[in-house]
Amino acid sequence: MLISLHFVHKSYCVCIFFRNFVPTMPQYVDVILPLPLPGTFTYALPPSCDTMPQVGCRVIVPFGGRKTYTALVVRLHSETPPYPTKPVAEIIDTSPAVLPDQLRLWRWIADYYLCPLGEVFKAALPTALKPKKTASKSQLGGKEDPLPQPFSPCFEGAPLTDIQQQAMDSIITQWQTHDVCLLHGVTSSGKTEIYIHLIQRAIEEGKQVLFMLPEIVLTAQLTERLRRVFGDRLGVYHSRYPDRERVELYQKMLSDAPYDIVVGVRSSLFLPFKHLGLIIIDEEHETSFKQQEPAPRYHARNLALVLAAQVGAKTLLGSATPSMESYYNAQSGKYGLVTLKTRYAGLLLPTIEVVDVQEMQRKKMMTGVFSPQLLAHIRHTLEQQRQVILFQNRRGYAPVLECRTCGWTPRCQSCDVSLTMHRGLKSLYGKSSMVCHYCGKVYDVPRTCPNCESRDLSSRGYGTERIEEQLQAILPEARIARMDLDTTRSKQNYEQILHDFEQGHTDILIGTQMVTKGLDFDRVSLVGILSADTMLAQPDFRSYERAFQLMEQVAGRAGRKGTQGHVVLQTRDAGNTIVQQVVTHDYEGMYAEQMQERELFRYPPLCRVVFIYLKHRNESVCESLANEFAVVLKKVFGNRVLGPDTPAVSRVHLMYIRKLILKMELTAPMSAVRQRLLALQAQILALPQYRSAQVYYDVD
Ligand code: ADP
Ligand code: ZN
Ligand code: ZN
Repeated sequence: MLISLHFVHKSYCVCIFFRNFVPTMPQYVDVILPLPLPGTFTYALPPSCDTMPQVGCRVIVPFGGRKTYTALVVRLHSETPPYPTKPVAEIIDTSPAVLPDQLRLWRWIADYYLCPLGEVFKAALPTALKPKKTASKSQLGGKEDPLPQPFSPCFEGAPLTDIQQQAMDSIITQWQTHDVCLLHGVTSSGKTEIYIHLIQRAIEEGKQVLFMLPEIVLTAQLTERLRRVFGDRLGVYHSRYPDRERVELYQKMLSDAPYDIVVGVRSSLFLPFKHLGLIIIDEEHETSFKQQEPAPRYHARNLALVLAAQVGAKTLLGSATPSMESYYNAQSGKYGLVTLKTRYAGLLLPTIEVVDVQEMQRKKMMTGVFSPQLLAHIRHTLEQQRQVILFQNRRGYAPVLECRTCGWTPRCQSCDVSLTMHRGLKSLYGKSSMVCHYCGKVYDVPRTCPNCESRDLSSRGYGTERIEEQLQAILPEARIARMDLDTTRSKQNYEQILHDFEQGHTDILIGTQMVTKGLDFDRVSLVGILSADTMLAQPDFRSYERAFQLMEQVAGRAGRKGTQGHVVLQTRDAGNTIVQQVVTHDYEGMYAEQMQERELFRYPPLCRVVFIYLKHRNESVCESLANEFAVVLKKVFGNRVLGPDTPAVSRVHLMYIRKLILKMELTAPMSAVRQRLLALQAQILALPQYRSAQVYYDVD
């Protein structure tokens, strides 16, 4: 408190002093606005100022008609711009709300991901730190903080086994020559225990640790485990937490007594760390580390590596099924690699039984989506008082409704996708309804086919809702719970479902990919993968890699304590090599084979791809824009440009979409490529017919 008073006082004096005697006092600030606009904006500082803002302070500025925004100061100067400037309306902070290291990261993002700095600003701070109109001055700083406590763990982590200790020692050795180390450890090998010891070590050295988890993963279970060790030195930054809590954590990180360790999802990268020494990325292969909408479309794993390099921190990537990118980097010597092949306490990996669904159907032995083998194992498991996890990569009741007479299926009016049947939204829409999984629009189920007026409408395929309904009918006694996007709208629902399962109040947990991630339950001995086929059929060069990861991860939930687990894997494509590789837990085999494919078709990690999306309300305008842009790009980049293509979902929210792909060699100077792209884009969007078009990029 004393110190901060002193500062305020001093800057006050300095201010008056300079005002009177030195003409070089900054008269302007350059700010970024939380808007998707390129560049910075210059405002005049008010002539009577008692405290000068610093770089990283927030100010309120007028913009456009009568709007005001919270802007961030990035530069102070006295260069009068060639246009009239408006004055800053209000200075919010007396000390920076955003630190220089953070700003450096923002600039890198804007440059690399081809998006305006304003969008990074918008994404990087909790909403309440960017008030639209008035701001309460006391939002940041000014709080009296307790002195930092000396480090005393509430509870030591479990002692490492010899194998774990060796892995930890090799990680530390790898860090002497590499900034990044990949820990490839099979499920339940004790990676989390190793993380705990590494965190302890970093904190003892006086450093901060960022522990990153994928978005939907149960943070609660892991956080609990870490909290038992690190107590209140640990903060949690979760996107499902209320904004107020996120602001509190942000403030705490800016204060003199910040958390030593933050557990968080991808946006925790934007927190103000002061002496970050270690970043751990658990389940580094997870696709939810990639931000899709809105911009910046960053990959949190890559961004973490950039942040670590900027502040001189070490990074540990951990996974049982590493992303091919990371494994490639480890193979080529760019990252260190440490491998753990055995489960904790010598437990064996689960046995995997493949069931050929086509054959079972021919023999008329399927009960709905369930094979006789799977049902027998479920019954047996329940008799033994043990638990079951069932995985289906589709939520809702059924993926399609179909007219049996003419084949009509309902589609969304604003998007180019068929609607998913749901039963769970009863109160609003009668017994069932149809939902667009792209825009969220809900429709009534028609009684008759609008095409041929037939009444013979039926649903095809299986979502988690329907599977739950069927299984409950087959096993009326079983206590069944479902975990998907529809049952976990709030954090409480989510935690309740998992708590009930952990306590043994439920016997069977059915879920989407949410159940594949990082869960650690003692009594689960059976895992059922209801259909491998939807995963293998995705039109994406990563679909096989992803299918392997999902299946291997969900299999890893079985038999984590005591007895070996069992997995029943249902598929119509039993000969598929990915299925075979899951059976033998053969990550290396999967990697080698997929790598050959990628070499053949030039895909990452062997090259860089930039997806270019063009959007317009009018389909033919969109089409001709895509064609014209392709011609311009091909003049510069030759056959590195592919397309234009109509993507699988070619219309979302009433906007038509076309896609171009740019494939660049790994050695290509990407920043020059980016400059060129943006220049060409500006050129084409300047044409009057394309003025209302949107162009955006998805890098890597
Ligand atoms: P992973 O993160 O690799 O999936 P975990 O760290 O969750 O593995 O470990 C799996 C299980 O084994 C957990 O229940 C954990 O408590 C237990 N375990 C792992 N290592 C140890 C250890 N050194 N001492 C005691 N229990 C351990
Ligand atoms: Zn019909
Ligand atoms: Zn839609």
